[in-house]
Amino acid sequence: MHGLIFAYAQPYPFGEICMKQLIHGGRLLTAGQLDGGPADLLIDGDTIVAVLQPGESVGDDVRRIDARDRLLIPGLVNAHTHAANQLNKGMVDRYSLELLLSAAPWTGGGRTVDYKYLSAYVGALEMVRKGCTACYDLAAEIPAPTVDGIEAVARAYNDVGMRAVIAPMMADVTFYNAIPGLMDAIPPGLRERAAAIRLQSHDQILATCRTILDGWSFDRDRLRPALGPTIPHHCTDDFLTGCRDLAKDHDIGVQMHVLESKVQAVAGVRRYGTTLLFRIIGTEMLSIIDMRNRTIHMRRTLRSSSRREATAQGATYARSGGMRATALAIVSYGLPIPA
Ligand SMILES: [Zn+2]
Repeated sequence: MHGLIFAYAQPYPFGEICMKQLIHGGRLLTAGQLDGGPADLLIDGDTIVAVLQPGESVGDDVRRIDARDRLLIPGLVNAHTHAANQLNKGMVDRYSLELLLSAAPWTGGGRTVDYKYLSAYVGALEMVRKGCTACYDLAAEIPAPTVDGIEAVARAYNDVGMRAVIAPMMADVTFYNAIPGLMDAIPPGLRERAAAIRLQSHDQILATCRTILDGWSFDRDRLRPALGPTIPHHCTDDFLTGCRDLAKDHDIGVQMHVLESKVQAVAGVRRYGTTLLFRIIGTEMLSIIDMRNRTIHMRRTLRSSSRREATAQGATYARSGGMRATALAIVSYGLPIPA
C-alpha cells in the first residue's frame, strides 16, 4: 500500500462540468468494512453513487482515476483547529501554552479581513490535502470577534469545500488577569501597562455573536456557527452564562479549552477551588445538553485509557507539535461529565 485516497466527493473545481468519475483498483475502508477489501467507487457530480466490485463495468462516459496501491478512506474530521494560527507557523517554537497566549497579539493581531480569510483558506487546503473534510474551528481574532472576520473564515471553508463548525474564540478577561498571581509577579512599571489592557465587555462580545448568529447566511448542513469562550478563567461568569444562554437560544454548540497545561490545572484550583472542568459544570455550560448524571474521569495528565474513554465520548484530545502543552478541548454536546 503506497498511499491514501480520501473518498471525498466534491464538485469539480474551476468551473469544470460535472461528470461521473470512477476510482478503481484501490482498496476501500469504511466504518462497516474495516478489512480494506478491493472495491471501486463511482461518483456522480458530488455524490458517491455506488461501491462496485473491482472491474465492474460502468460504461465509457466516465472519468477514470487509477487507485492501484491506494487505500480509499472516508474524509477525516479535525475536531479542534484554529484558522488564525495558519499564518503564525514558524513564528515561535516550543512555547508553553502561556507564552503562546501572551504572544497572541504579536503572532495573530493586526489582521485585515483578507488575512483572516487567507489564514483560514490555507488551513483548509492543508487539511484537505491530508484527508480532512470537516473540522471544528475556534476562530480567534485579536482582540475580539468581528462579524466580518467570522464571515471571512466561513467563506474560506466554503470556497475550499470543507464542512466546518466555526466558533469565535473569545475572552473577556485579559491573560494577565486570568492567571492567579501573575499581575503581582510583574515588575512595577510593566505591571501598570498590563493592568491598563482592556478587552471588550461580555455584553459587547455577546452582541457581536448575536449579530453573527442572526445573520448567518451559509448552508448550516455544511457550515455551522458555534461559540468558543476560550478558557474558563479567561472568561467572567457573566460571559460564560451569556454564552450558554445564547447557544441554547440558537441551538448551537460550545467548545472550550480545559486542562491544557499545568498552569491551567493550578489556576482552576486557586481561582475556583476546583478543576476547570468542574467549574464549567458549575456555570452550567454543559448542562445545556443535560449531561449531569454521566461519569467520566479526566485528569490534567490523562492516562491513555481515560483519554480513550474521553475522546470516545465527545472530548477532543489534541497535542500541538509547536508547544509543550497538551490540549484537551471539550465539545459541549455528547460529553459525559464527572459525577
Ligand atoms: Zn485550541
